[in-house]
Amino acid sequence: MPMLNLIIFLFGLAVGSFLNSIVFRYNTGERVTKGRSRCFNCGKELSWAELIPVLSFLIQRGKCKNCSSKISWQYPAGEFLTGILFLAFFIEWQKKFFDRPALLVFWFLIAAFLILITLYDVKHKIIPDSFSYSFLALAFLSKFIFFEINLLDLFLSLLPALFLFCLWFFSRGRWMGLGDAKLMIGGGIFLGFPGSIYAVLLGFWIGAIFGILLLLGSSGITIKSEIPFGPFLVLGIIFAFLFPDFLNYFNFFYA
Ligand SMILES: [Zn+2]
Repeated sequence: MPMLNLIIFLFGLAVGSFLNSIVFRYNTGERVTKGRSRCFNCGKELSWAELIPVLSFLIQRGKCKNCSSKISWQYPAGEFLTGILFLAFFIEWQKKFFDRPALLVFWFLIAAFLILITLYDVKHKIIPDSFSYSFLALAFLSKFIFFEINLLDLFLSLLPALFLFCLWFFSRGRWMGLGDAKLMIGGGIFLGFPGSIYAVLLGFWIGAIFGILLLLGSSGITIKSEIPFGPFLVLGIIFAFLFPDFLNYFNFFYA
C-alpha cells in the first residue's frame, strides 16, 4: 500500500511542523495554539506556502522571504524525522498488530513525544518533566490496554532506568541528567526486557561515536561541552523497538 504509506509520511511531516512550534513556544509564555507562526527576526506572519513542511525550507533556501534571516535547521529536520518515524511505526504496526487499530494511535502519540523530547533536549539541553511523564503514561497505557503485563518483565525492563538514576545520583548530575533516567522509565515500559537494556547500550555507543567524531572534526566543541544524552537514548529506544531481532546477532541474552 504505497499510497497509504505516503499519506502517513505526509501526516507525520505536518505533525512534525506542529511539534517544532511547541518546542519553540513551550515555557516562553506564548500559547502553543496561538495564531500562525511568525519569522523570529522580522515578525512577519508566514503565508500558507511558507508553512509547507520541508519543501518551503528548500525553496526559500533556509531564509525568510521578507528579511532573508536564516531559518533554523530545526524546522525541516524536525518535520522530516517525524515523517520518517510515523512511517516506520506504521509499517511495524501493519506487520504485527493490524487487528488493533487503536494501538497505532498510541504509537503515533509516543513517536510525537519522542521527537518532542529530542528536539527540546538538543535546543535547551533539558527534558521537561511533562514530556517524559507523558511518554511514560502513553507507554504504560499502550502495554496495559493491549497486552498482558508480566511483573517480572516489567521489573527487569526498569533496571536500565535505575542504572541511569544511579549514574546521576553518584556523579551529582555530572555524568548523567535526571531527565535521562526519567525518560528511560518510559523507555523501559515501552520496550520491555531485554529491549530496554539494548536501548541504553545503543544510546551509549551512538553517543560515544558521535563524541569521537566531534573531537576529530575541529568544530570547536570539546569533550567538556555538554552534549545532551536524551537524543541518543531516543535513538536507542527507537532502534530497539523497530529491530528487536538485532539482539540475536550478539547472543547477549540468548546464548
Ligand atoms: Zn523575517
